[in-house]
Amino acid sequence: MRSDLIALISRLVAIDSVNPSLVAGGAGETEIAGFIAAWAHEAGLEADLLEETAGRPSVLVRARGTGGGRTLLLCGHIDTVNVEGMTDPHAPRVDGDRLYGRGAYDMKAGVAAALLAAREAARLGLAGDLVVAAVADEEHASLGVQEVLRAVHTDAAIVTEPTELEIAVAHKGFVWSEVRVTGRAAHGSRPHLGVDAIVKMGPVLTALGALDEALGARQHPLLGRGSVHASVIDGGVELSSYPAHCVLALERRTLPGERGADVERELAALLDRCRAADAELDAEQRTLLVREPFEIDQGAELVSVVRAAAADVLGQAPRIGGVSYWADAAFIAAAGIPTVLFGPGGAGAHATEEWVSLSDTEAVARILIGVAAGLCA
Ligand SMILES: [Zn+2]
Repeated sequence: MRSDLIALISRLVAIDSVNPSLVAGGAGETEIAGFIAAWAHEAGLEADLLEETAGRPSVLVRARGTGGGRTLLLCGHIDTVNVEGMTDPHAPRVDGDRLYGRGAYDMKAGVAAALLAAREAARLGLAGDLVVAAVADEEHASLGVQEVLRAVHTDAAIVTEPTELEIAVAHKGFVWSEVRVTGRAAHGSRPHLGVDAIVKMGPVLTALGALDEALGARQHPLLGRGSVHASVIDGGVELSSYPAHCVLALERRTLPGERGADVERELAALLDRCRAADAELDAEQRTLLVREPFEIDQGAELVSVVRAAAADVLGQAPRIGGVSYWADAAFIAAAGIPTVLFGPGGAGAHATEEWVSLSDTEAVARILIGVAAGLCA
């Protein structure tokens, strides 16, 4: 399996699939989705392209069962982030156990493991289907997974993002938000006419720091604390004028149990406290994007099936943990589908040097086959 795996990851890494919503002129998923569909057909599997948004296709690869069994979905994204600062980002290179290249770790190795598992599952004569969703746009707006969830029915799902061979049963969510403070523009020599919007943002920033400190009091056993930080601030026009506007973009990372609406209330209360201290503060808040957190009960059947299959391959049961990053798992779980994340180890997601462990990826492929045999029999 190792040589097939190296060949497949290398082909996937060699295809530029930078997300065009993140980087103007990015290649998108057309070529890589076409490659995966052709690979699947050659492997005797069914493959369908989903492309509601032009240039942003996802692929559904299906190892069809004999009928009457449960369906397992393996989901991985095929887009990558930018390649800035990398030398030969799309020239895969193997060095010992490591395969280097943009997307190797996040997460073309996980996609390759899922595809090889599907090819093997087709030979096992399982009753249920094994479906691989190779999805577009996870790094931006998750167009792909949302389209997939409208197209497939499944009984369980594994997102093969890199988890260092841990079964991840939770990840954080996030809320992007904007606070706009309005002042009044005036000539710098006429303080009686001006209202300094940037200075008035000061107490809002201080309150944000206090909120972050308060969030530290609540700990999730697998994910640690929630947090809030200022991301981008903008205001003012020139040195000799009072600034009429100051706009702060911020990010709140949420724990399971904290919904987007809760964060809106939290920020509204924060601004109320600032207004109570400054009757002239003109500030408003709006939510830009909500991505909910994810958590599955550790007692769920899927968790024990993955644990057992992993113990078979690894010789010991893997750790159960959480990952700090957000993933498509949240969308799948929100559709009522039991979901975990499970994938290989490596390093350099979104960094200038990225690699994945080949032995881990091979173990993941074998474990996925074991899970399919357990769930789809
Ligand atoms: Zn990823």
